[in-house]
Amino acid sequence: MDLTLPHGGTHERIQSPQTAVIAGGGLAGVAAAAVLAERGVSVVLAERESFLGGRAGAWTDRLATGESFEMERGFHAFFRQYYNLQALLRRIDHELSFLEPLEDYPILGPGGQVESFSGLPNKPPWNVVALTKRTPTLGLRELMGVNGLAALSMLRYERGWTYGRYDDQTAGEYLDSLRFPPDARRMLFDVFAHSFFNPENAMSAGELLMMFHFYFSGNPEGLIFDVSKRPFSRSIWEPLGAYLTGHGVDVRTGCTVSRVARGAGRKWRVDLNGEVVEADHVVLALTVPGLQAVVAESPDLDDAGFRLSVEGLALTNPFVVWRLWFDRPAKPGRQPFAGTTGVGCLDNISLYNLFEDESRDWARRTGGSVVELHAYAVDPSMDEAAIREDLLTALYTFYPEYVGAGVIEERYLVRRDCPAFAPGSHADRPGVSTPHEGIALAGDFVRLPIPSALMERAVASGFLAANHLLASQDIKPEPIRSIPRRGLFGRRVQETEASRMR
Ligand SMILES: Cc1cc2nc3c(=O)[nH]c(=O)nc-3n(C[C@H](O)[C@H](O)[C@H](O)COP(=O)(O)OP(=O)(O)OC[C@H]3O[C@@H](n4cnc5c(N)ncnc54)[C@H](O)[C@@H]3O)c2cc1C
Repeated sequence: MDLTLPHGGTHERIQSPQTAVIAGGGLAGVAAAAVLAERGVSVVLAERESFLGGRAGAWTDRLATGESFEMERGFHAFFRQYYNLQALLRRIDHELSFLEPLEDYPILGPGGQVESFSGLPNKPPWNVVALTKRTPTLGLRELMGVNGLAALSMLRYERGWTYGRYDDQTAGEYLDSLRFPPDARRMLFDVFAHSFFNPENAMSAGELLMMFHFYFSGNPEGLIFDVSKRPFSRSIWEPLGAYLTGHGVDVRTGCTVSRVARGAGRKWRVDLNGEVVEADHVVLALTVPGLQAVVAESPDLDDAGFRLSVEGLALTNPFVVWRLWFDRPAKPGRQPFAGTTGVGCLDNISLYNLFEDESRDWARRTGGSVVELHAYAVDPSMDEAAIREDLLTALYTFYPEYVGAGVIEERYLVRRDCPAFAPGSHADRPGVSTPHEGIALAGDFVRLPIPSALMERAVASGFLAANHLLASQDIKPEPIRSIPRRGLFGRRVQETEASRMR
């Protein structure tokens, strides 16, 4: 693990009273709120929904029997190299005891193809070598046809070089250039690329290569991940909410931030549900449309470059999460989570009752099972009936024991709020710092100095935003942790302290 301390700092806490408004109560906003509050800043955290957590949030729902359960925006994998997320979560559960490891998560393909990630060596490049060796669709003949130079870029990650060379290309074009046999490409890369919610033909190859470095070729922790044994509301959000409140944070749910304006002196005035709150520091940790709406309503955020970079952000295609309560169990031996490819728009199947307590109890009582089907980067021209049919057909193909099973209950969510990483978007993507003193951005769409993605990117950006806002005050920063920021064959670059954190 690489500890990337942004700057020194002697004091544990601020020396004069200061206030902050954090807009957005997802992982990014909560991370920023925790760091600022721990250092003595008086924080208001404003979240539009009635619960914290954003895309990793959970809310209470009821089955037809009247029994309550926690519904989520879908299965989440907690990878071991999510060091900053772990640091946040250790504040509420030092041993991370709410997580349990998944021994394997196979990728299932058409015609019974299976790729497993269990038992691979942790150390790059041996993990890459071992995976290549055991992939049945990659014989010597196929390997001879692979474009070695293009494939080498997966081991050559260095931010400047990778984005400079590949950001304008699509992930699909890059994957085509590898000349992998179609089966191997589908099993090894298509599932991976889709996990970031972006379609291959509209995602930057530079971003894909960063993800490849972060999850695989530069990841010293191995490909194993953990899952939450309890619904996120109980394992994460209730304890984190209590932690924040315990540190004096004024947590306001159901509270929309609509505008930021200049106040007296160096203060900002933030409009929260019509009430104006003054703050020395503001972190905008919103969804992409949320941020764009706030900036559009805030003429005082008047730097033209900043406004353009925020306007240039975009959302990717919608995703679907379909949870089904079946009247029968899955076949014994099924894994709690499996990635899928090549059959309709299904991307993965999770068997909730194999890892989450609430679903396990329900399955025990009823003899049924709780299954979640996900589809990412869904073609916007597909209607709900077509998506449902597609997902069920794929489930029956991979897990035929469900053919004819009765559906006791279901929840079908379609959402469109995951960020796009379009080709050519890296250079203009906003970072954590803004040209407006006292205002910082956070979220999983923000450009970061360290390789990271999804939940880890959200938390790292929240920590960095808090560090940035306190940087001039000789305060001990929150440590920022990272996997090596260069691949095995990545070029060495001379970095200044500032460039390390930008
Ligand atoms: C189906 C699914 C599966 C996923 N699986 C994984 C996984 O396996 N591993 C992984 O690492 N990541 C996964 N992710 C991604 C992960 O959930 C996100 O990367 C992360 O939660 C983003 O956090 P955030 O704080 O950046 O944004 P969000 O969680 O989107 O938080 C932004 C918050 O801002 C609030 N907001 C917006 N506008 C306003 C306003 N005007 N005023 C006040 N509040 C506002 C929103 O309500 C939201 O709560 C998954 C996501 C989905 C949807």
